[in-house]
Amino acid sequence: MRPQDILMPVPAGLCCKPGGFHIDPVRPVERAVITHGHSDHARPGHGSVLATQETLDMMRLRYGDNFAGRTQAIAYGEQIKLGNVSIKFHPAGHVLGSAQIAVSCQDTCIVASGDYKDAPDPTCAPFEVVRCDVFITEATFGLPVFRHGPADDEIKKLLASVALFPERAHLVGAYSLGKAQRVIALIRAAGYDAPIYLHCAMEKITRYYESRGVALGELRLVRGVKKSDLAGTITLAPPSATSDIWTRRFPDPVTAFASGWMRVRARARQRGVELPLVISDHADWDGLTATIDASGAGEIWVTHGQEDALVHWCKAKGLTARPLDLVGYGDENEGDGMPAGEDAEA
Ligand SMILES: [Zn+2]
Repeated sequence: MRPQDILMPVPAGLCCKPGGFHIDPVRPVERAVITHGHSDHARPGHGSVLATQETLDMMRLRYGDNFAGRTQAIAYGEQIKLGNVSIKFHPAGHVLGSAQIAVSCQDTCIVASGDYKDAPDPTCAPFEVVRCDVFITEATFGLPVFRHGPADDEIKKLLASVALFPERAHLVGAYSLGKAQRVIALIRAAGYDAPIYLHCAMEKITRYYESRGVALGELRLVRGVKKSDLAGTITLAPPSATSDIWTRRFPDPVTAFASGWMRVRARARQRGVELPLVISDHADWDGLTATIDASGAGEIWVTHGQEDALVHWCKAKGLTARPLDLVGYGDENEGDGMPAGEDAEA
């Protein structure tokens, strides 16, 4: 069977006609199969949603109980038949509950990876390489200039700054779903055991991570805490909050931002980030190309991000490759005023 007869990009997202579903649809559909809980992939209003339990829970937290007509949870490694195809979920290493979706029909297997990273993350199941015929990869950081480096080193930078400026507060911008919890877990792994403060917008999802067994140490809400008591502390906040009036409640704050985009110094300067932390939940260039190699796929479809360089790299390796031109992804930006796609959840 030709791959394009199994999965096809349509305005609503990736459509699987023989299976009767869409993957990560950007418009309401009858049956949605969803890779992970970020808002550009997991939207409300579908007739039914098939996803991991964590992704369903995150959608419920964000959108309320009636986010879909029906829901069905699927575990990693579990296989389900939908119409004429079978699908299987595999860990994507991106955020808690994130999955790659393998769609098999007759003798062809296509893996839609959603967002993924191959770097270690103490808050979610590690990325799993899935052998397939067609691999659909994201390309958020699909340029050779993007090499993230070890996240531990960035956390050391943060803790060194906290030690250096005990009279100042440290304010770390991080996306509420995934990045914030990963940064906290990394800070704990580095041996920092003082309370960590949270912007209230992060409370629900962070408590949810804890309820799924992710240990994050003592967390406190910043609301109601005296300004002077925040000297020498670390607070996690959504990126948008770190550049607004909310920061006045902190004594002389050092503004940090944890994102793969912080590799670009101009980007950090432009948003007034004093302490850029290159920590990403997406694969960097080396991760993308290594994963494409390891998948064994002869055909690569590239989506949401910097498709061109990756398509070119694939073709130079003798692989069939094309951009998918899907619209509507890469804008989990929590309203932080940067153009969609430029400063998305990253
Ligand atoms: Zn994502």
